[in-house]
Amino acid sequence: MQKQKIAVVGAGLSGLVAAINLEQAGFQPQIFEATDRVGGRVKTDYREGYTFDHGFQVLLTQYPATQKYLDYELLDLQHFYPGAVIYNNGRQNKIGDPLRQFSLLWPTLISKVGSVTDKLRVLKLNTELKKKSFDDIFLAEEKTTAQYLKDYGFSEEIIHDFFKPFFTGIFLEHELKTSSRKFEFVYKMFGEGSAAIPKKGIQAIPNQLMAQLKHTKIHFNTPVNSIQDQEITFENGSTETFDYIIIATEASHLISNLKNQQTLWKSVDNYYVSVEQRAFKEPMIALIADEEALVNNIYYLSEPSAEEHVLSVSIVKPHQLSCEELKERISQDLKAYAAIDTIEFKQFYHIEKALPVMASVSYMLPKSETQLKDQIFLAGDYLANGSINAAMLNGESAAQAVISKIKDGSISLSQY
Ligand SMILES: Cc1cc2nc3c(=O)[nH]c(=O)nc-3n(C[C@H](O)[C@H](O)[C@H](O)COP(=O)(O)OP(=O)(O)OC[C@H]3O[C@@H](n4cnc5c(N)ncnc54)[C@H](O)[C@@H]3O)c2cc1C
Repeated sequence: MQKQKIAVVGAGLSGLVAAINLEQAGFQPQIFEATDRVGGRVKTDYREGYTFDHGFQVLLTQYPATQKYLDYELLDLQHFYPGAVIYNNGRQNKIGDPLRQFSLLWPTLISKVGSVTDKLRVLKLNTELKKKSFDDIFLAEEKTTAQYLKDYGFSEEIIHDFFKPFFTGIFLEHELKTSSRKFEFVYKMFGEGSAAIPKKGIQAIPNQLMAQLKHTKIHFNTPVNSIQDQEITFENGSTETFDYIIIATEASHLISNLKNQQTLWKSVDNYYVSVEQRAFKEPMIALIADEEALVNNIYYLSEPSAEEHVLSVSIVKPHQLSCEELKERISQDLKAYAAIDTIEFKQFYHIEKALPVMASVSYMLPKSETQLKDQIFLAGDYLANGSINAAMLNGESAAQAVISKIKDGSISLSQY
């Protein structure tokens, strides 16, 4: 075993992957986590037999980092069909990739979403992105996704009816201002793999990472107040010194000279609601494309055969509604746009800091750029792009940088 004392601040995906890498190199790191569990933004509550994820989020099975660190079979992944149900102007349309889900061939062909040219362009974009490497995507010039789609030649109609609601649910902003790099990356991942949620909820992901840790001590309910050189000051006033510290969460509130580099965040509201009937049987995400709707996307948590149908409802557009007003509005939207009658609101999450706002995104942070000071290293998704993949890769990068520093005295400048 290596003797150096290494602290990791934060037990989100990034901190957990950092600890896995450190253990593999023979270290026994300690993780300091402010809350009572691992996972950070990847969280699930188990209540009255329900599995309530904190916000709708999916694992894209093609993510290189999740393929490397997770056992998909053990996660018992529940895959979504490659496509979406779209509600618009009182109609329900199903569109998808008929090459991967044959049952979507006919609905896609006859759907009123987009022109024939649009449908051909969707296929062309799929093919082009399959050939692009991550470097091709992340070194390309950035523009907004809205501009990218326009420049690609998509009609206003398909942008409005499909791309806008679909990517609003992913980017958590409804103007599609997010970088075209992130759009290409996510589109490529959707095109080459599937979107899935573990049977036991999204929390199964960090739980599986934690289970891989055999020599790491995790200190729960131990918020860090500040970090100066090698010393950590905890919120209870105690201090402890380490040889190396990896900060696997936004660092600006912990390091005094980063105070003016605070990250801005995108928020989302997520309601779980039981409903009268199941509007479609397939495991698909449904989008409400009508401009006036506040609800953006929904999906059925329950199996089609279940006696009770529970919907996860995501609201991305900013609003000033109280909790009661929001419930009322969700009921109205579901009835008006999707003909779904609500029965009971079961659980609500407002996630204030869901995804970082980023003017420019990268695939991951190179090892050489994770070092902030001699003994302090940075990890976390917010340093590359807000995704499960980036969180894990940045954790790996920071840990590998620390390992190189200890073993070789320096960090190699290889790009990743
Ligand atoms: C609603 C929602 C939907 C999403 N959808 C997707 C999706 O579909 N696909 C996808 O790939 N990604 C999605 N994401 C993003 C993904 O969840 C994040 O990119 C990822 O979880 C970030 O992990 P992290 O470890 O970098 O940060 P975090 O998860 O934020 O972890 C940071 C950890 O540090 C702890 N911490 C913070 N401050 C302190 C302190 N002072 N002392 C000690 N501990 C501290 C926190 O409690 C937390 O556990 C979504 C996120 C949300 C919230």
